[in-house]
Amino acid sequence: MTQHFDFLAIGAGSGGIASANRAAKLGKKAAVIEAKQIGGTCVNVGCVPKKAMWYAGQIADALHYAADYGFNAPLQGFNWSTLVKNREAYIERIHAAYARGFASNGVTVIDGFAKFINKNTVEVNGEKITADHIVIATGGRPSIPTIKGAEYGIDSDGFFALTEQPKSVVVVGAGYIAVELAGVFHALGTTAHLLVRKEKPLRGFDDMLSDTLVEQMAKHGPTLHNHSTPSHVEKHDNGQLTVHLENGKSVGPVDSLVWAIGREPATDKINLEAAGVTMNEQGFITTDKYQNTNVKGIYAVGDNTGRAQLTPVAVAAGRRLCERLFNNKPYEHLDYSNIATVVFSHPVIGTVGLSEKEALAEYGVEQVKVYNSQFTALYQAMTEDYRDPTRMKLICVGKEEKIVGIHSIGFGSDELLQGFAVAMKMGATKADFDNTIAIHPTSAEEFVTMN
Ligand code: FAD
Ligand code: NDP
Repeated sequence: MTQHFDFLAIGAGSGGIASANRAAKLGKKAAVIEAKQIGGTCVNVGCVPKKAMWYAGQIADALHYAADYGFNAPLQGFNWSTLVKNREAYIERIHAAYARGFASNGVTVIDGFAKFINKNTVEVNGEKITADHIVIATGGRPSIPTIKGAEYGIDSDGFFALTEQPKSVVVVGAGYIAVELAGVFHALGTTAHLLVRKEKPLRGFDDMLSDTLVEQMAKHGPTLHNHSTPSHVEKHDNGQLTVHLENGKSVGPVDSLVWAIGREPATDKINLEAAGVTMNEQGFITTDKYQNTNVKGIYAVGDNTGRAQLTPVAVAAGRRLCERLFNNKPYEHLDYSNIATVVFSHPVIGTVGLSEKEALAEYGVEQVKVYNSQFTALYQAMTEDYRDPTRMKLICVGKEEKIVGIHSIGFGSDELLQGFAVAMKMGATKADFDNTIAIHPTSAEEFVTMN
Protein backbone atom coordinates (compact mmCIF):
# COMPACT_ATOMS: atom_id res chain seq x y z
CA MET A 1 0.00 0.00 0.00
CA THR A 2 1.36 3.45 -0.87
CA GLN A 3 1.65 5.80 2.11
CA HIS A 4 0.75 9.43 1.43
CA PHE A 5 1.89 12.51 3.38
CA ASP A 6 1.31 16.24 3.16
CA PHE A 7 5.02 16.83 3.73
CA LEU A 8 8.00 14.51 3.31
CA ALA A 9 11.62 15.21 4.22
CA ILE A 10 14.33 13.06 2.63
CA GLY A 11 17.12 12.95 5.23
CA ALA A 12 16.82 13.34 8.98
CA GLY A 13 19.73 15.70 9.50
CA SER A 14 19.54 19.32 10.62
CA GLY A 15 17.30 20.48 7.76
CA GLY A 16 15.03 17.44 7.48
CA ILE A 17 14.31 17.17 11.20
CA ALA A 18 13.58 20.88 11.60
CA SER A 19 11.26 21.02 8.61
CA ALA A 20 9.33 17.79 9.34
CA ASN A 21 8.75 18.86 12.95
CA ARG A 22 7.61 22.32 11.89
CA ALA A 23 5.24 20.92 9.24
CA ALA A 24 3.73 18.55 11.82
CA LYS A 25 3.37 21.33 14.40
CA LEU A 26 1.49 23.30 11.77
CA GLY A 27 -1.01 20.46 11.49
CA LYS A 28 0.35 18.61 8.46
CA LYS A 29 0.79 14.87 8.11
CA ALA A 30 4.58 14.76 7.97
CA ALA A 31 7.26 12.09 7.56
CA VAL A 32 11.01 11.94 7.45
CA ILE A 33 13.14 9.25 5.76
CA GLU A 34 16.62 8.49 7.08
CA ALA A 35 19.15 6.06 5.60
CA LYS A 36 21.64 6.11 8.48
CA GLN A 37 21.27 7.79 11.86
CA ILE A 38 18.76 10.38 13.03
CA GLY A 39 20.53 13.69 13.50
CA GLY A 40 22.56 13.53 10.29
CA THR A 41 26.05 14.94 10.02
CA CYS A 42 25.84 17.53 12.79
CA VAL A 43 24.76 15.22 15.58
CA ASN A 44 26.64 12.06 14.59
CA VAL A 45 29.82 13.06 12.74
CA GLY A 46 29.92 16.86 12.84
CA CYS A 47 29.25 19.76 15.18
CA VAL A 48 28.35 17.78 18.28
CA PRO A 49 31.17 15.19 18.52
CA LYS A 50 33.57 17.84 17.16
CA LYS A 51 32.65 20.27 19.94
CA ALA A 52 33.08 17.51 22.54
CA MET A 53 36.58 16.85 21.20
CA TRP A 54 37.31 20.59 21.13
CA TYR A 55 36.22 20.91 24.77
CA ALA A 56 38.64 18.10 25.61
CA GLY A 57 41.33 20.18 23.94
CA GLN A 58 40.26 23.22 25.97
CA ILE A 59 40.61 21.19 29.17
CA ALA A 60 44.09 20.11 28.08
CA ASP A 61 44.94 23.79 27.52
CA ALA A 62 43.55 24.73 30.93
CA LEU A 63 45.80 22.11 32.53
CA HIS A 64 48.78 24.00 31.13
CA TYR A 65 47.58 27.14 32.94
CA ALA A 66 46.74 25.34 36.18
CA ALA A 67 50.12 25.77 37.90
CA ASP A 68 50.03 29.55 37.36
CA TYR A 69 46.62 29.58 39.02
CA GLY A 70 48.08 27.80 42.05
CA PHE A 71 47.01 24.25 41.30
CA ASN A 72 49.39 21.38 41.76
CA ALA A 73 47.67 19.10 39.25
CA PRO A 74 50.20 16.94 37.44
CA LEU A 75 48.75 15.39 34.30
CA GLN A 76 48.40 11.66 34.93
CA GLY A 77 47.43 10.78 31.38
CA PHE A 78 44.61 11.12 28.94
CA ASN A 79 42.29 8.35 27.82
CA TRP A 80 40.93 8.93 24.31
CA SER A 81 38.59 5.95 24.46
CA THR A 82 36.90 7.24 27.64
CA LEU A 83 36.30 10.55 25.89
CA VAL A 84 34.87 8.77 22.84
CA LYS A 85 32.65 6.52 24.98
CA ASN A 86 31.16 9.49 26.88
CA ARG A 87 30.77 11.50 23.68
CA GLU A 88 28.85 8.68 22.00
CA ALA A 89 26.67 8.19 25.09
CA TYR A 90 25.75 11.87 24.88
CA ILE A 91 24.87 11.42 21.19
CA GLU A 92 22.61 8.48 22.12
CA ARG A 93 20.76 10.83 24.49
CA ILE A 94 20.29 13.27 21.61
CA HIS A 95 18.87 10.44 19.45
CA ALA A 96 16.40 9.64 22.21
CA ALA A 97 15.38 13.31 22.49
CA TYR A 98 14.74 13.45 18.73
CA ALA A 99 12.61 10.29 18.91
CA ARG A 100 10.54 11.87 21.71
CA GLY A 101 10.17 15.06 19.65
CA PHE A 102 8.97 13.16 16.56
CA ALA A 103 6.52 11.15 18.66
CA SER A 104 5.04 14.19 20.36
CA ASN A 105 4.75 16.12 17.09
CA GLY A 106 3.32 13.11 15.24
CA VAL A 107 6.09 12.84 12.63
CA THR A 108 6.40 9.39 10.98
CA VAL A 109 10.01 8.17 10.81
CA ILE A 110 10.89 5.80 7.97
CA ASP A 111 14.25 3.95 7.95
CA GLY A 112 15.85 3.47 4.56
CA PHE A 113 17.37 5.10 1.52
CA ALA A 114 14.92 7.10 -0.60
CA LYS A 115 15.01 7.42 -4.39
CA PHE A 116 12.69 9.39 -6.61
CA ILE A 117 10.36 7.49 -8.91
CA ASN A 118 8.62 10.61 -10.16
CA LYS A 119 8.03 14.12 -8.86
CA ASN A 120 5.55 13.12 -6.16
CA THR A 121 6.80 9.65 -5.36
CA VAL A 122 9.87 8.15 -3.72
CA GLU A 123 10.73 4.52 -3.12
CA VAL A 124 12.14 3.23 0.16
CA ASN A 125 12.87 -0.46 0.82
CA GLY A 126 10.70 -1.34 -2.19
CA GLU A 127 7.72 0.67 -0.85
CA LYS A 128 6.27 3.72 -2.56
CA ILE A 129 5.64 6.91 -0.62
CA THR A 130 3.89 9.92 -2.09
CA ALA A 131 3.67 13.48 -0.79
CA ASP A 132 2.25 16.83 -1.83
CA HIS A 133 5.45 18.57 -0.76
CA ILE A 134 8.92 16.95 -0.69
CA VAL A 135 12.01 18.60 0.76
CA ILE A 136 15.37 17.13 -0.21
CA ALA A 137 17.64 17.44 2.84
CA THR A 138 20.24 14.81 2.02
CA GLY A 139 23.30 16.84 3.09
CA GLY A 140 26.77 15.89 1.91
CA ARG A 141 29.81 13.72 2.43
CA PRO A 142 33.55 14.32 2.66
CA SER A 143 35.56 14.64 -0.57
CA ILE A 144 38.59 12.38 -1.02
CA PRO A 145 41.34 13.16 -3.56
CA THR A 146 41.93 10.75 -6.43
CA ILE A 147 45.69 10.35 -5.88
CA LYS A 148 47.45 6.99 -5.43
CA GLY A 149 47.15 5.73 -1.86
CA ALA A 150 44.37 8.18 -0.90
CA GLU A 151 42.38 5.20 0.43
CA TYR A 152 44.90 4.76 3.27
CA GLY A 153 43.62 8.02 4.76
CA ILE A 154 40.39 8.57 6.63
CA ASP A 155 37.92 11.49 6.46
CA SER A 156 36.11 13.38 9.22
CA ASP A 157 33.67 10.45 9.62
CA GLY A 158 36.73 8.23 10.15
CA PHE A 159 38.11 10.69 12.70
CA PHE A 160 35.01 10.22 14.84
CA ALA A 161 35.33 6.43 14.48
CA LEU A 162 38.85 6.47 16.03
CA THR A 163 38.63 4.62 19.33
CA GLU A 164 42.36 4.98 20.01
CA GLN A 165 44.51 8.07 19.83
CA PRO A 166 47.05 8.11 17.01
CA LYS A 167 50.51 9.21 18.17
CA SER A 168 51.09 11.13 14.96
CA VAL A 169 48.84 12.42 12.22
CA VAL A 170 48.78 14.36 8.97
CA VAL A 171 45.65 16.42 8.29
CA VAL A 172 45.23 17.68 4.71
CA GLY A 173 43.00 20.67 3.95
CA ALA A 174 42.66 24.36 4.65
CA GLY A 175 39.10 24.93 5.80
CA TYR A 176 37.09 24.61 8.98
CA ILE A 177 37.45 20.85 9.41
CA ALA A 178 41.19 20.71 8.75
CA VAL A 179 42.10 23.42 11.28
CA GLU A 180 39.61 22.14 13.85
CA LEU A 181 40.76 18.51 13.71
CA ALA A 182 44.47 19.36 13.55
CA GLY A 183 43.96 21.64 16.57
CA VAL A 184 42.15 18.94 18.55
CA PHE A 185 44.80 16.31 17.79
CA HIS A 186 47.57 18.68 18.81
CA ALA A 187 45.86 19.86 22.00
CA LEU A 188 45.31 16.24 23.08
CA GLY A 189 48.96 15.29 22.55
CA THR A 190 49.09 13.78 19.06
CA THR A 191 51.99 15.05 16.93
CA ALA A 192 49.98 16.81 14.24
CA HIS A 193 50.95 18.14 10.81
CA LEU A 194 48.57 20.34 8.82
CA LEU A 195 49.15 20.37 5.05
CA VAL A 196 47.69 23.24 3.03
CA ARG A 197 48.13 23.55 -0.71
CA LYS A 198 48.33 27.38 -0.76
CA GLU A 199 50.04 29.93 1.52
CA LYS A 200 47.86 29.48 4.62
CA PRO A 201 44.65 27.92 5.96
CA LEU A 202 41.31 29.78 6.13
CA ARG A 203 42.16 31.97 3.14
CA GLY A 204 38.55 33.07 2.75
CA PHE A 205 38.48 34.66 6.20
CA ASP A 206 39.70 38.12 7.23
CA ASP A 207 43.53 38.15 7.06
CA MET A 208 43.77 39.16 10.72
CA LEU A 209 42.10 35.86 11.66
CA SER A 210 44.07 33.54 9.39
CA ASP A 211 47.39 35.31 10.02
CA THR A 212 46.92 35.14 13.79
CA LEU A 213 46.03 31.45 13.54
CA VAL A 214 49.22 30.81 11.53
CA GLU A 215 51.26 32.82 14.06
CA GLN A 216 49.84 30.80 16.96
CA MET A 217 50.39 27.50 15.14
CA ALA A 218 54.04 28.49 14.65
CA LYS A 219 54.31 29.17 18.40
CA HIS A 220 52.37 26.24 19.86
CA GLY A 221 51.63 23.78 16.99
CA PRO A 222 50.33 21.91 15.08
CA THR A 223 53.10 22.02 12.46
CA LEU A 224 51.86 23.89 9.42
CA HIS A 225 53.22 22.95 5.98
CA ASN A 226 52.15 25.47 3.35
CA HIS A 227 52.38 25.03 -0.43
CA SER A 228 52.13 21.31 0.27
CA THR A 229 49.94 19.33 -2.12
CA PRO A 230 50.00 15.55 -1.66
CA SER A 231 51.06 13.62 -4.79
CA HIS A 232 50.69 10.09 -3.37
CA VAL A 233 50.53 8.20 -0.10
CA GLU A 234 52.86 5.36 0.81
CA LYS A 235 51.89 2.68 3.30
CA HIS A 236 54.72 1.03 5.22
CA ASP A 237 54.83 -2.58 6.46
CA ASN A 238 54.07 -1.43 10.03
CA GLY A 239 50.90 0.33 8.82
CA GLN A 240 52.34 3.84 9.08
CA LEU A 241 51.87 6.31 6.25
CA THR A 242 54.12 8.78 4.47
CA VAL A 243 52.50 11.57 2.48
CA HIS A 244 54.59 12.50 -0.55
CA LEU A 245 54.17 16.01 -1.91
CA GLU A 246 54.17 17.51 -5.38
CA ASN A 247 57.10 19.73 -4.32
CA GLY A 248 59.28 16.62 -3.84
CA LYS A 249 59.16 16.70 -0.04
CA SER A 250 57.33 14.23 2.19
CA VAL A 251 55.72 14.21 5.64
CA GLY A 252 55.73 11.08 7.81
CA PRO A 253 55.73 8.29 8.64
CA VAL A 254 52.64 8.94 10.74
CA ASP A 255 50.00 6.71 12.31
CA SER A 256 47.04 8.35 10.63
CA LEU A 257 46.10 10.59 7.69
CA VAL A 258 42.91 12.66 7.59
CA TRP A 259 41.51 14.21 4.42
CA ALA A 260 39.57 17.43 5.09
CA ILE A 261 39.47 19.07 1.69
CA GLY A 262 35.78 19.97 1.45
CA ARG A 263 32.44 18.20 1.12
CA GLU A 264 30.32 17.15 -1.84
CA PRO A 265 26.52 16.99 -2.02
CA ALA A 266 24.69 13.66 -1.52
CA THR A 267 22.53 14.14 -4.60
CA ASP A 268 23.96 11.59 -7.04
CA LYS A 269 22.18 8.43 -5.89
CA ILE A 270 18.63 9.66 -5.35
CA ASN A 271 17.51 9.57 -8.97
CA LEU A 272 16.76 13.29 -9.16
CA GLU A 273 16.41 12.85 -12.92
CA ALA A 274 13.14 10.96 -12.40
CA ALA A 275 11.73 14.01 -10.67
CA GLY A 276 13.29 16.42 -13.17
CA VAL A 277 15.17 18.38 -10.47
CA THR A 278 18.18 20.26 -11.78
CA MET A 279 21.63 20.51 -10.17
CA ASN A 280 24.69 22.61 -10.92
CA GLU A 281 27.99 21.16 -12.21
CA GLN A 282 29.11 20.14 -8.72
CA GLY A 283 25.83 18.34 -8.02
CA PHE A 284 24.36 21.00 -5.70
CA ILE A 285 20.60 21.38 -6.12
CA THR A 286 19.61 24.69 -7.65
CA THR A 287 17.14 26.58 -5.46
CA ASP A 288 15.68 30.07 -5.42
CA LYS A 289 15.48 32.24 -2.30
CA TYR A 290 12.33 30.35 -1.20
CA GLN A 291 14.17 26.97 -1.36
CA ASN A 292 12.10 26.03 -4.44
CA THR A 293 13.79 23.73 -6.93
CA ASN A 294 12.82 23.99 -10.60
CA VAL A 295 10.02 21.43 -9.93
CA LYS A 296 6.83 22.63 -8.24
CA GLY A 297 6.33 20.93 -4.87
CA ILE A 298 9.99 19.88 -4.50
CA TYR A 299 12.34 21.93 -2.33
CA ALA A 300 15.89 21.57 -1.05
CA VAL A 301 17.49 22.84 2.16
CA GLY A 302 20.89 22.52 3.80
CA ASP A 303 24.30 21.41 2.61
CA ASN A 304 23.08 19.95 -0.69
CA THR A 305 22.12 23.45 -1.89
CA GLY A 306 25.75 24.62 -1.72
CA ARG A 307 25.03 27.69 0.41
CA ALA A 308 26.58 28.30 3.86
CA GLN A 309 27.08 24.71 5.04
CA LEU A 310 26.11 25.23 8.66
CA THR A 311 23.56 23.51 10.87
CA PRO A 312 21.61 26.64 11.89
CA VAL A 313 21.32 27.54 8.21
CA ALA A 314 19.77 24.16 7.29
CA VAL A 315 17.44 24.41 10.31
CA ALA A 316 16.35 27.97 9.57
CA ALA A 317 15.83 27.28 5.85
CA GLY A 318 13.66 24.23 6.65
CA ARG A 319 11.54 25.99 9.26
CA ARG A 320 10.99 29.07 7.11
CA LEU A 321 10.01 26.87 4.19
CA CYS A 322 7.27 25.23 6.28
CA GLU A 323 6.08 28.58 7.64
CA ARG A 324 5.74 29.76 4.05
CA LEU A 325 3.93 26.63 2.85
CA PHE A 326 1.68 25.93 5.80
CA ASN A 327 1.33 29.07 7.92
CA ASN A 328 0.09 31.63 5.47
CA LYS A 329 3.41 33.48 5.19
CA PRO A 330 3.91 33.58 1.41
CA TYR A 331 7.13 35.60 1.52
CA GLU A 332 8.89 33.82 4.38
CA HIS A 333 12.45 32.88 3.42
CA LEU A 334 15.96 32.74 4.82
CA ASP A 335 18.20 35.77 4.39
CA TYR A 336 21.62 34.23 3.72
CA SER A 337 23.55 37.45 4.38
CA ASN A 338 25.63 38.12 7.49
CA ILE A 339 25.58 34.63 8.95
CA ALA A 340 27.80 34.49 12.02
CA THR A 341 30.13 31.52 12.34
CA VAL A 342 32.75 30.14 14.69
CA VAL A 343 35.80 28.09 13.74
CA PHE A 344 36.65 25.89 16.71
CA SER A 345 40.35 26.25 16.09
CA HIS A 346 43.07 26.78 18.67
CA PRO A 347 42.75 29.75 19.26
CA VAL A 348 39.04 29.98 18.51
CA ILE A 349 37.64 32.33 15.84
CA GLY A 350 34.31 34.17 15.70
CA THR A 351 33.36 36.07 12.56
CA VAL A 352 30.40 37.71 10.85
CA GLY A 353 30.05 39.89 7.78
CA LEU A 354 32.64 41.21 5.37
CA SER A 355 36.38 40.75 5.69
CA GLU A 356 38.45 43.92 5.34
CA LYS A 357 39.41 42.95 1.77
CA GLU A 358 35.77 42.30 0.84
CA ALA A 359 34.65 45.62 2.37
CA LEU A 360 37.33 47.54 0.47
CA ALA A 361 36.37 45.81 -2.77
CA GLU A 362 32.65 46.50 -2.24
CA TYR A 363 32.71 50.05 -0.84
CA GLY A 364 36.12 51.54 -1.77
CA VAL A 365 38.88 52.78 0.49
CA GLU A 366 37.24 56.19 1.21
CA GLN A 367 34.12 54.57 2.63
CA VAL A 368 35.74 51.96 4.89
CA LYS A 369 37.03 52.55 8.40
CA VAL A 370 38.62 49.69 10.32
CA TYR A 371 39.06 49.51 14.10
CA ASN A 372 41.53 47.02 15.55
CA SER A 373 42.28 45.88 19.05
CA GLN A 374 44.92 43.57 20.46
CA PHE A 375 45.21 42.52 24.10
CA THR A 376 45.91 39.54 26.30
CA ALA A 377 42.76 38.01 27.75
CA LEU A 378 42.86 38.17 31.55
CA TYR A 379 42.48 34.37 31.64
CA GLN A 380 45.84 33.97 29.92
CA ALA A 381 47.47 37.14 31.26
CA MET A 382 47.71 35.34 34.60
CA THR A 383 50.02 32.73 33.08
CA GLU A 384 53.76 32.77 32.38
CA ASP A 385 53.95 30.94 29.06
CA TYR A 386 50.55 31.29 27.41
CA ARG A 387 50.07 35.05 27.04
CA ASP A 388 48.71 34.81 23.54
CA PRO A 389 47.14 37.81 21.83
CA THR A 390 43.42 38.15 21.37
CA ARG A 391 42.76 40.23 18.25
CA MET A 392 39.52 41.92 17.25
CA LYS A 393 38.43 43.96 14.28
CA LEU A 394 35.39 46.07 13.47
CA ILE A 395 34.78 47.06 9.87
CA CYS A 396 32.59 50.11 9.34
CA VAL A 397 31.34 51.87 6.21
CA GLY A 398 30.08 55.33 5.33
CA LYS A 399 29.71 58.52 7.33
CA GLU A 400 27.47 56.80 9.87
CA GLU A 401 30.05 54.00 10.30
CA LYS A 402 27.60 51.17 9.81
CA ILE A 403 29.18 47.97 11.00
CA VAL A 404 29.61 45.43 8.17
CA GLY A 405 32.19 43.07 9.67
CA ILE A 406 33.04 41.79 13.15
CA HIS A 407 36.02 39.48 13.64
CA SER A 408 37.63 38.04 16.72
CA ILE A 409 40.31 35.44 17.47
CA GLY A 410 41.34 34.38 20.95
CA PHE A 411 39.87 33.18 24.21
CA GLY A 412 36.07 33.57 24.32
CA SER A 413 35.61 34.54 20.66
CA ASP A 414 33.09 31.71 20.25
CA GLU A 415 30.60 32.71 22.92
CA LEU A 416 30.86 36.49 22.53
CA LEU A 417 29.83 36.74 18.91
CA GLN A 418 26.13 35.84 18.81
CA GLY A 419 24.85 39.04 20.43
CA PHE A 420 27.07 41.22 18.27
CA ALA A 421 25.71 39.40 15.21
CA VAL A 422 22.18 40.44 16.28
CA ALA A 423 23.33 44.06 16.53
CA MET A 424 24.91 43.92 13.09
CA LYS A 425 21.82 42.33 11.54
CA MET A 426 19.80 45.21 13.03
CA GLY A 427 22.08 47.73 11.31
CA ALA A 428 24.20 48.85 14.28
CA THR A 429 26.73 51.64 13.83
CA LYS A 430 30.01 52.27 15.61
CA ALA A 431 28.20 54.96 17.65
CA ASP A 432 25.68 52.33 18.86
CA PHE A 433 28.57 50.18 20.03
CA ASP A 434 30.22 53.20 21.73
CA ASN A 435 26.93 54.03 23.48
CA THR A 436 26.79 50.58 25.01
CA ILE A 437 28.39 50.37 28.45
CA ALA A 438 31.06 47.70 28.64
CA ILE A 439 30.79 44.56 30.73
CA HIS A 440 34.00 44.42 32.69
CA PRO A 441 36.25 42.48 32.83
CA THR A 442 35.49 40.51 29.66
CA SER A 443 37.05 40.18 26.23
CA ALA A 444 33.75 41.19 24.61
CA GLU A 445 33.96 44.68 26.11
CA GLU A 446 36.76 45.52 23.65
CA PHE A 447 34.15 45.72 20.89
CA VAL A 448 32.37 48.63 22.62
CA THR A 449 35.53 50.51 23.64
CA MET A 450 37.52 50.55 20.38
CA ASN A 451 38.96 53.80 19.07
P1 FAD B 1 22.95 16.40 7.07
O1 FAD B 1 23.02 16.81 8.48
O2 FAD B 1 24.19 15.87 6.43
O3 FAD B 1 21.79 15.33 6.98
C1 FAD B 1 21.49 14.65 5.80
C2 FAD B 1 20.88 13.31 6.16
O4 FAD B 1 20.28 12.76 5.01
C3 FAD B 1 21.91 12.29 6.64
O5 FAD B 1 21.54 11.75 7.88
C4 FAD B 1 21.89 11.22 5.54
O6 FAD B 1 22.13 9.91 6.05
C5 FAD B 1 20.50 11.37 5.02
N1 FAD B 1 20.32 10.92 3.64
C6 FAD B 1 21.07 11.23 2.56
N2 FAD B 1 20.55 10.70 1.45
C7 FAD B 1 19.43 10.02 1.84
C8 FAD B 1 18.45 9.29 1.16
N3 FAD B 1 18.49 9.16 -0.17
N4 FAD B 1 17.45 8.71 1.87
C9 FAD B 1 17.38 8.87 3.21
N5 FAD B 1 18.28 9.57 3.91
C10 FAD B 1 19.28 10.16 3.23
N6 FAD B 1 28.02 23.25 11.32
C11 FAD B 1 27.87 24.17 12.30
O7 FAD B 1 26.96 25.01 12.22
N7 FAD B 1 28.71 24.21 13.37
C12 FAD B 1 29.71 23.31 13.53
O8 FAD B 1 30.44 23.36 14.51
C13 FAD B 1 29.89 22.32 12.53
N8 FAD B 1 30.86 21.40 12.64
C14 FAD B 1 30.99 20.44 11.69
C15 FAD B 1 32.02 19.49 11.81
C16 FAD B 1 32.19 18.52 10.86
C17 FAD B 1 33.29 17.51 11.02
C18 FAD B 1 31.31 18.46 9.74
C19 FAD B 1 31.47 17.39 8.70
C20 FAD B 1 30.31 19.39 9.59
C21 FAD B 1 30.14 20.40 10.56
N9 FAD B 1 29.14 21.37 10.45
C22 FAD B 1 29.01 22.33 11.42
C23 FAD B 1 28.25 21.40 9.27
C24 FAD B 1 26.89 20.77 9.60
O9 FAD B 1 27.08 19.47 10.13
C25 FAD B 1 26.04 20.70 8.34
O10 FAD B 1 25.96 21.99 7.77
C26 FAD B 1 24.63 20.20 8.63
O11 FAD B 1 24.66 18.93 9.21
C27 FAD B 1 23.82 20.15 7.31
O12 FAD B 1 22.53 19.65 7.56
P2 FAD B 1 21.71 18.95 6.39
O13 FAD B 1 20.37 18.68 6.94
O14 FAD B 1 21.85 19.71 5.14
O15 FAD B 1 22.48 17.57 6.12
P1 NDP C 1 35.91 23.88 3.41
O1 NDP C 1 35.19 24.09 2.16
O2 NDP C 1 35.67 24.77 4.55
O3 NDP C 1 37.49 23.90 3.15
C1 NDP C 1 38.14 23.00 2.34
C2 NDP C 1 39.42 23.67 1.86
O4 NDP C 1 40.38 22.66 1.58
C3 NDP C 1 39.23 24.44 0.59
O5 NDP C 1 38.75 25.72 0.85
C4 NDP C 1 40.63 24.44 0.01
O6 NDP C 1 41.38 25.54 0.55
C5 NDP C 1 41.21 23.12 0.53
N1 NDP C 1 41.22 22.12 -0.53
C6 NDP C 1 40.27 21.88 -1.47
N2 NDP C 1 40.65 20.88 -2.27
C7 NDP C 1 41.87 20.48 -1.85
C8 NDP C 1 42.76 19.48 -2.30
N3 NDP C 1 42.48 18.70 -3.32
N4 NDP C 1 43.92 19.33 -1.63
C9 NDP C 1 44.22 20.12 -0.58
N5 NDP C 1 43.40 21.09 -0.11
C10 NDP C 1 42.24 21.26 -0.75
O7 NDP C 1 35.62 22.36 3.73
P2 NDP C 1 35.65 21.54 5.07
O8 NDP C 1 35.74 20.13 4.61
O9 NDP C 1 36.67 22.05 6.01
O10 NDP C 1 34.23 21.81 5.70
C11 NDP C 1 33.03 21.74 4.93
C12 NDP C 1 32.02 22.71 5.46
O11 NDP C 1 31.46 22.23 6.68
C13 NDP C 1 32.59 24.08 5.82
O12 NDP C 1 32.69 24.92 4.72
C14 NDP C 1 31.60 24.59 6.84
O13 NDP C 1 30.54 25.24 6.18
C15 NDP C 1 31.11 23.32 7.51
N6 NDP C 1 31.78 23.21 8.81
C16 NDP C 1 31.50 24.15 9.77
C17 NDP C 1 32.13 24.12 10.97
C18 NDP C 1 31.84 25.17 12.01
O14 NDP C 1 30.82 25.85 11.89
N7 NDP C 1 32.68 25.35 13.01
C19 NDP C 1 33.10 23.08 11.30
C20 NDP C 1 33.31 22.14 10.24
C21 NDP C 1 32.66 22.21 9.05
P3 NDP C 1 42.52 26.30 -0.32
O15 NDP C 1 41.87 26.70 -1.59
O16 NDP C 1 42.93 27.43 0.56
O17 NDP C 1 43.59 25.26 -0.52
